[in-house]
Amino acid sequence: MGKGFFEVPIAVNEPVKDYAPGSQEREEVLKTYREMYKAEIEVPLFINGKEVKTKETATMSPPHDHKHVLGTYYKATKKNVEEAIETALEARKKWAAMPWEQRAGIFLRAAELIAGPYRAKINAATMLGQSKNIYQAEIDSACELIDFLRFNVQYMTEIYAEQPESTSSAWNRVEYRPLEGFIYAITPFNFTAIAGNLPASAALMGNVVVWKPSNTQVYSAKVIMDVFREAGVPAGVINMVMGDAVMISDTLMASPDFSGVHFTGSTGVFQGIWQKIGNNISNYKTYPRIVGETGGKDFIVAHKTSNPKQVATAMARGAFEFQGQKCSAASRCYISSTIWEDVKKQLIEDVRSFKMGTPEDMGNFITAVINESSFDKLASYIDQAKKDKNAEIIVGGGYDKSKGYFIEPTVIVTKDPKYTTMCTELFGPVLTVYVYEDKDWTEMLELVDGTSEYALTGAVFSEDRYALEEAVKALENAAGNFYINDKPTGAVVGQQPFGGARASGTNDKAGSKQNLYRWISPRLIKETFVSPTDYRYPFLG
Ligand code: NAD
Repeated sequence: MGKGFFEVPIAVNEPVKDYAPGSQEREEVLKTYREMYKAEIEVPLFINGKEVKTKETATMSPPHDHKHVLGTYYKATKKNVEEAIETALEARKKWAAMPWEQRAGIFLRAAELIAGPYRAKINAATMLGQSKNIYQAEIDSACELIDFLRFNVQYMTEIYAEQPESTSSAWNRVEYRPLEGFIYAITPFNFTAIAGNLPASAALMGNVVVWKPSNTQVYSAKVIMDVFREAGVPAGVINMVMGDAVMISDTLMASPDFSGVHFTGSTGVFQGIWQKIGNNISNYKTYPRIVGETGGKDFIVAHKTSNPKQVATAMARGAFEFQGQKCSAASRCYISSTIWEDVKKQLIEDVRSFKMGTPEDMGNFITAVINESSFDKLASYIDQAKKDKNAEIIVGGGYDKSKGYFIEPTVIVTKDPKYTTMCTELFGPVLTVYVYEDKDWTEMLELVDGTSEYALTGAVFSEDRYALEEAVKALENAAGNFYINDKPTGAVVGQQPFGGARASGTNDKAGSKQNLYRWISPRLIKETFVSPTDYRYPFLG
């Protein structure tokens, strides 16, 4: 920025459209959905701004309609991945030197493209490829991604404005350099917004990126890539490769120019990545930044003073929206015996009222889980719960994969607070409840804290301030996002920066300045105006 201290538009959250019957946005997204359903597309790799097709392909299908083919995507070879590295490093020469206002312009334009001409398309792609109902698609692939792009631009300028003190004799300046090398972005299937944000946030700060989307999110990843290109992300700055995750990761992380990984996904995969980085540590030119947001076993705790209707609603939404496939989804609940019967009654009523099926039918609250292996895993836990003496299924328990991967929202009640589904992340519509005696409130809080390896989200419900205060303290380290009298899902960029600790990640808070700091390496420049000409200090006499 040579000729002005520019100010960027103040970031505001993108309003969520409601898609009510008869609304224009509903008609538009349904029309786009139907057109996309019929059109078979191809998703090539994107390397150096070019579409690359290879010999190996895989098909894409809607999880709620798995025999139908939406198209194919191409799988990268090792050579393609090496080309992506080379091309990124070449692009870095110009991109890292690009004035920040030009980078801001590109990503603000991307936000506006999603808010307008691409909104129906990115929502329909997320509905088709990841089986989100329209509301879940809208809050993720449209609004959250727009928010990430807009807020990150503002945060970038706030970071750049942070400067040290200077004196009349010396001027101290900090410049926030991009990392030397390239960033590897690895993204999960469950949020289109995360898929877009992980490469974009690093690129915004002047980095070049090789991005590997999840194989089950490629369909909407293509729309993101189209938006990036139309917004003007230059060739080579964000390269997209799909295929064998292990080969791609090994190739990228073997490069001496690997300078950071921006990961969201499961804990086991992240630990494997960290291990590989550790093994290669002496080969790198710079210590790589390791950012990973990973799994959760998120809880709701309800005190005897809480409102049973509010608790049941938080459970119904928090556990079952997007079929429980949110990292923040409530999957273990601790409910006071005083209110349990009321909570149970409403929860069962609510779950029975859910309609399940294709997202094209907008009356459906529940759609399918992402793929067959997830379906089979969930079905096996449900079958086990049917056999176990210390578990009782009070609603749900059915499943059917003949047309789509449909698992009925299922509530298990257990007498064992360490029952397997109270501890293990299942990532599906299965909620387990432990009913505690009111006198055991304090011990129960210890139990919540000590039950799982994770610490992502959690919620406490109570009308008693002393009880709330006790829970806030006792669960200080049990969740990176902690909710009082609210469900533990639905974090909004700019309002609830998101991330957890323990096995849930490095807690670098996506959608905050803190995350952007990880993609820069500050350089301090001290300029002395009149340099000394004699080494002797006055004390030497
Ligand atoms: P996943 O770990 O299976 O996949 C994530 C990414 O890693 C994908 O791109 C995948 O292809 C890749 N991958 C898989 N195996 C790999 C390997 N051996 N080496 C390198 N890369 C590999 O996760 P998922 O099923 O896509 O997403 C669900 C998980 O993500 C859940 O555990 C959820 O809690 C977590 N998640 C966390 C957050 C958060 O903010 N904490 C947000 C969303 C999802």
